[in-house]
This record gives sequence, structure tokens and C-alpha cells, in this order.
Amino acid sequence: MSALLRSWIPWRGLGLLVLIAVCISSATPRIVTRLLNPTISSGLPQPTLEAITFHSELNVADLHTDALLWDLDLLKHRSSGHIDIPRLETGRIALQSFTVVTKSPFGQNIRHTSPDSDLITLLTVAQAWPVRTWGNLTERALHQAKKLQRTANNSGGRLTLVQTQNQLTDVLRRREEGDNTIGAILGIEGAHALERDLTQLERLYNAGFRSVGLTHFFDNEVGGSAHGLDKGGLTAFGMKVVTRMEEIGMAIDLAHASPSLINDILGTASQPVLISHTGVKGTCDNERNVGDEALRGVAVTGGLVGIGLWPEAICGDTAADWVQAVQYAVEVAGIDHVGLGSDWDGAVPAIVDASGTIYLVQALLDNGFERDEVRKIMGGNAIRVFRQTLPAP
Ligand SMILES: [Zn+2]
Repeated sequence: MSALLRSWIPWRGLGLLVLIAVCISSATPRIVTRLLNPTISSGLPQPTLEAITFHSELNVADLHTDALLWDLDLLKHRSSGHIDIPRLETGRIALQSFTVVTKSPFGQNIRHTSPDSDLITLLTVAQAWPVRTWGNLTERALHQAKKLQRTANNSGGRLTLVQTQNQLTDVLRRREEGDNTIGAILGIEGAHALERDLTQLERLYNAGFRSVGLTHFFDNEVGGSAHGLDKGGLTAFGMKVVTRMEEIGMAIDLAHASPSLINDILGTASQPVLISHTGVKGTCDNERNVGDEALRGVAVTGGLVGIGLWPEAICGDTAADWVQAVQYAVEVAGIDHVGLGSDWDGAVPAIVDASGTIYLVQALLDNGFERDEVRKIMGGNAIRVFRQTLPAP
């Protein structure tokens, strides 16, 4: 028995838990994602031939998926959940942000969430992730990054990890030449993944991460969450984190951030800021969504707000509800600052899965958006922002 094994066996019952976890680990992600990530697919507009042709030439970009949390083979088409490489190809996705979750408290909710418990620990054990990930959030992020890299390596060029401006340009050039490779950007959901240690930021950068959502459902050492207990602003440690992020080429993502934190960042950011997945209070007034001031502030940085596809973000479950939120955000922030932030496989229902972006395009066209505007919303804006925030080679 190795020393490492001896050191953790004495934890009461843990050995049995591991055994059970290993037995069920292959089935767990499939069952859990089928239950947690349904696709609504009702009330969708019928795509016209014209829209289908237009869509077939689009470069779509999506700012947020939690797909790496689940141990699923992304190279294979599945009939459940929201996302895999074949469905991203059908959806004409040119750029997909894979954002990793490292901690989710029990009973998390959009009003008041305490940081004192964690469901992801159970998931790491149930999916038989390496022991080092069980008690360390940085390791959980690094493990998920490795999964994405492995998927890209085994994809035969269908998925490419994008870490520099040149790599993004290269993905777009290949697509123009008819090779439909998908660019993948790694992001963090919650800077608690740093484990209070600024040096971990460089480790995450070196593993390929290029955006950091500062907070998730609870307040952390960087700043307040919109769903936390105190909902404070940027801390002194947080200031050091974001300064370093901008220096090395990591985008700041304010999804889930408290209003004070949003205010603090928008007052100091020197690079375009993202709110990767959100709704707008103007069409759906709740604690999950952002107000007009945040929309305008993000536009001033040259950044982007990704409008989500789940009912709590848009107070509805149709493509028309999504378009209404997009329309509102465009009116307040401008056409260059609104995009798609699906939250596919994020333990929420989605209006459409990754293969269904044609329905969003049709709904935008039906509501009077011009083709140039649809191009921007569906991907052009996100590509422009990452061209700016990604590091030069
Ligand atoms: Zn989220």
C-alpha cells in the first residue's frame, strides 16, 4: 500500500465511498446531466431556406459552458445534455468558451448563498477524479483543463485550444478554407480557484486559461457575488488578481458578480470586460441579472454581455424571450456589445442545445435584426473581444 493511500484510508468510510464511486463513476455523468441539463425546444421558429443558408456560413461564438464538469466524451454525439463536438459543428460554433466550475455550495440560490459547503467535492469523488482534486480547487480547474486538452488532441483537428491571438486567427482562417474546426477558450468560473494564492494564477494561465469569472454563487477572497451573503466589492487581493490578469492576457468575466464588484471593475478595467452569461433586469428583474448601468459600463470597456438561454435569465422559455433580452441589451449597450452566453450543460434547462443555434438566428431575423447585426450578436462581437484580450504570441 502506498504512503499516500495509507494517509487517506483512515478517514472513516472514505475507502468504501471511493469503491462505490468507482463502480458508479462511468454512469454518473450521463445520468446526472440527462436530469440536470434538459433542452426545452418548444415554440421555436421554423427556419427558412434563406436563414439556413445564412447560418451555414456563420461563425457562431458562445461565452459559457460547464461541460467540463461532467466526465463525458465530447467527441461523441449524445441525445441528452446540451453540448458535444458534433452538435457544436451543427450549430456552426467557431469559438466556444469552456468555463470550469470548482465549487458549488449545497442549496445555492441567486439571493443568499453561504460558502460553507460544497457539492463539487462529491462529484470529484463520484467521477473518480485524482485524489489531489478532492480538497483543492486549483487542482480541480487544472484537471478540467487537461480533459479539454486531451479532447482537442484526440479530435483530429475538430477542436483547437485557443490561447493566443494568432491561434484565434488561425482557427478563423481554417474555417474560411472550409475546415470547420472549433476554437476552444478555457475560462474559470469563480476566482476561489486560486486558493487565495496569486501564484496559482500563473499556473492556470500556463494550463491555458484565458478568462476568469471573479465570483460564482458565493463571496470569495477576490470580491462579492450577486448571490453571496455580503455582496461586497473588489478586495485588495482581488485588485492584485485583476491587475495581473490584464498584464498577462486573461479576460475579466463579471457574470455572478455583485453590483459593487461590477462597479469597482468597470471603474478600473483597461481591457474589454465580459459578462459571459446573464440576463438583463430590463426584461427579467432578478438577482441573477444585470442592470442598465452594468450594460453601459461593459460597452465603455469595449466588452461584451452574453445573453443566456435558461429560463431564469430571460423569464421565459422560448427563442422569442431570448431575443427580447438581446434586443433590450442592444438598445442599452449597443449592437457591438451583445452576444450569446448559453450556460450549456450548466445544470439548467436551455431553450436550444448547441446544435440549435439556427433557431436563435431565425428568431433574430424574425424580429427585424439585419444580417450584419445577427453576425455580430451570434459570434462577431465575441471574436473581436477575444482578439483583443488574448495574449499576443
Ligand atoms: Zn454561471
